[in-house]
Amino acid sequence: MSTVLTGKEVAQAIKEDCRLRVELLQKDHIYPKLAVLRLGQRADDINYENSILKNAQNLGIASQSVTLPESCLQQELEDVLDRLSADPHIHGILLFCPLPKQIDTKAALQHLNPAKDIDGLTYGNYAHIYAGDREGFAPCTPSAVMALLDFYHIAVAGKNVLVIGRSLVVGKPLAMLLLGQNATVTVAHSKTEQLPALCQKADIVCAAVGRANFVDDTFVSENQIVIDVGVNADPKRENAVCGDVDFAKVQDKVAAITPVPRGVGSVTTAILLRNTVIAAERMANREG
Ligand code: NAP
Repeated sequence: MSTVLTGKEVAQAIKEDCRLRVELLQKDHIYPKLAVLRLGQRADDINYENSILKNAQNLGIASQSVTLPESCLQQELEDVLDRLSADPHIHGILLFCPLPKQIDTKAALQHLNPAKDIDGLTYGNYAHIYAGDREGFAPCTPSAVMALLDFYHIAVAGKNVLVIGRSLVVGKPLAMLLLGQNATVTVAHSKTEQLPALCQKADIVCAAVGRANFVDDTFVSENQIVIDVGVNADPKRENAVCGDVDFAKVQDKVAAITPVPRGVGSVTTAILLRNTVIAAERMANREG
């Protein structure tokens, strides 16, 4: 029977740390504040936003919700990003992506101050992640994977880690963060040949594929740690989500595995709030 690595305890530990750090900042009259910028009324985005705002409030982090119409023009979005980026009372900005198709995302992100880019979307933060200098913000999902591994004392140094997926929001930054912790990292993608055999050889497998139940029992071997980043509509159950790993088939074949839901995804909001606190700390140090 494998160990199930749930995210709730990880998130709680991060939030507790945040709470203490917010108290310290408040003693110096610094009040961490998060701005959440959403275009349109997608139900998933609204649910996520409500959860972020509630969690922020519980930790003493102030927040501001900014909503633009889905039909919003490039200039309107860039003006709002400029305003939030320049506002000294706002420390972190979360811009919900993907943006509507009329928006040039790359151009818009140039108006997001990298020091406030708590979800690591900007080129300024890519550079920090690539340089491994810990001065920027990595996207929250790969950071959540690293926090989960750390919480469960799963050392990656010297281990063979296979990351399946090479997107800019998950696979690539995750590979860089793992490399920064001295893992030996292989990145697989849709053109990778003989993936199941490659996967079996890894000590740790991180699946960020975006395909429901893609990693099955033919991919894994005993003693492996399997981290499932995927969030997909479950093809077998209505209104349910499942991961990129076929949990039922894999669970008993490996040493440890994250579930979906209640795995990596449970940690991402805590990371986002921690990044807001870090942004406030950094700004305070720069000003002080
Ligand atoms: P993405 O942009 O669609 O990237 C998917 C990656 O998987 C691509 O690099 C693609 O390779 C690779 N891939 C696709 N089919 C493959 C195959 N047959 N064999 C090997 N590799 C294959 O997705 P993403 O944004 O990185 O997200 C990945 C998963 O994480 C999704 O399920 C998403 O919902 C989930 N996610 C979760 C969270 C969270 O908080 N837990 C946050 C963000 C995303 P190519 O580059 O060759 O096309």
